[in-house]
Amino acid sequence: MKQSKLFTRTLKEEPKDEVSFNARVLIRAGFIDKLAAGIYTLLPLGLKVHQKICQIIREEMTAIGGQEILMPALIPKENWEATGRWENFDALFKLGSAELKQYALGATHEEVVTPTVGKYILSYKDLSLAVFQIQTKFRDEKRAKGGLIRGREFSMKDLYSFHPDEETLSQYYKIVQKAYFKIWQRLGLLDITYLTYAAGGAFSKYSHEFQTVAESGEDTIFICEACKLAINREIIDECSACPNCHNTELVEKRAIEVGNIFKLGTRFSSAFGLKYLDAAGEEKEVVMGCYGIGPSRLLGTIAEVSHDAKGIIWPEAVAPFRVHLLSLKEDEETEKIYKDLLAAGIDTLYDDRAEAQAGEKFTDADLIGCPYRVVVSAKSLREGGVEVKQRAGHNLEIVKISRLVEFLNRQ
Ligand code: ATP
Ligand code: MG
Repeated sequence: MKQSKLFTRTLKEEPKDEVSFNARVLIRAGFIDKLAAGIYTLLPLGLKVHQKICQIIREEMTAIGGQEILMPALIPKENWEATGRWENFDALFKLGSAELKQYALGATHEEVVTPTVGKYILSYKDLSLAVFQIQTKFRDEKRAKGGLIRGREFSMKDLYSFHPDEETLSQYYKIVQKAYFKIWQRLGLLDITYLTYAAGGAFSKYSHEFQTVAESGEDTIFICEACKLAINREIIDECSACPNCHNTELVEKRAIEVGNIFKLGTRFSSAFGLKYLDAAGEEKEVVMGCYGIGPSRLLGTIAEVSHDAKGIIWPEAVAPFRVHLLSLKEDEETEKIYKDLLAAGIDTLYDDRAEAQAGEKFTDADLIGCPYRVVVSAKSLREGGVEVKQRAGHNLEIVKISRLVEFLNRQ
């Protein structure tokens, strides 16, 4: 894409009404725009990153048998009443219609998925099954100061699984854990993301969160480095040693909850009368699990954990563009390079702005944070090519124009 055509611009000034780093840098770099506290627009660059995050999650959920659906955001009051959450879910946004019917905007979707999937479950032959969606959620969060980390409107991937018994739920729960680790790996977050023991529900002693270590994180976790596990501070009283090796020398860190998984048991199936006939023809309650990830929170988390003083450093897998091509007054030559990169399938942002000074282009490239910066200048051409620099590194390398595509493909 040509930068001259991008309708957004980077900002010179920090936005004044934001305290969180992720919102400040993402607004300044032109990825998001703020409408109100906890409510943001994804601009072209931000939307591209968000779509890449979602696609990675989608692929890994599909790989473990999840079937993608899209449920409504507008959910009638009766559904919430069936589970007691019309009164008990503090963060629900409630609204009425002209016909005096009441609704809540989806803050979570057990109240929709359980009766919906229930229509198709008759016998044990229909189980196990899992469905997921990637959708906008609404929560009236009290503190919405964390930028994309705590939105009032935010995206969530929510997977729900349905099983004949606890044993098959436990097996699938482990499969989802593994799939989550693949997601953190693909997002470049594996090394700093911990499976974390958190308070459970009525059905299981613990639930599990996935916590990404970040100084700005809202949560405090205690890490066992040997087992790569952590415990959330909220349960540390009950469990002051590593649940795996019983080591008590745990390291305290701040972290962001990027996902969590939960054994729901029969809480929702019993609320909606979700039963199946077992092999002996006996009626049994379906056992459920739910598994969340926050793609928009992940977008903010990556900005929090992967940046330097100059701007964001996107991991390749989710970068808005792989290459940021800067033309310093060698427009014809650069235009040709741009076309060659596109033809080779290398997604490129081409800073072709005639009015921008070289310094401004460099500053923007660092702020926006694409993995490779390719500069075409009189100097680089004299040296026989273009200058390539990785956003994450310091080395400048002159690469012959005829070898640029090959060079980038080799990385
Ligand atoms: P938290 O403890 O941070 O309030 P939660 O435990 O309520 O989150 P879930 O309801 O299980 O979270 O939601 C699943 C995932 O959705 C979370 O792990 C997180 O990644 C994301 N998420 C939850 N609330 C928000 C929010 N307000 N803004 C952005 N993402 C969120
Ligand atoms: Mg939580």
